[in-house]
Amino acid sequence: MGEIHKARTTQRWFKVRDYVRERDQHLCQLCVRNLYHTLQRYTFNNTQVHHVIPMKEDEDRNLWYNSENLLLVCKYHHDMCERGEVPREEQLEIVREQEYKYSNY
Ligand SMILES: [Zn+2]
Repeated sequence: MGEIHKARTTQRWFKVRDYVRERDQHLCQLCVRNLYHTLQRYTFNNTQVHHVIPMKEDEDRNLWYNSENLLLVCKYHHDMCERGEVPREEQLEIVREQEYKYSNY
């Protein structure tokens, strides 16, 4: 099993993944902002926790379990992010907004 795959089976990952799901209210954060060809605004189904800076690019692994690098998106928008069709800076801006909102909730 590869390191990246293995990392997604750890308690540490489950913990941060659950935090991000809650922080992002279980909604795709691109759909809810009506960005990038959103078809429906409130997308609860098929959501996935996405690494803005991909795990394979982060060799020292500081961002693997860092919620400031994680965003909840639907499958459709996840694929789009992975193809580089959503600028990373824009994704990180949404993450910052979500962290801020959640810390003041
Ligand atoms: Zn979406």
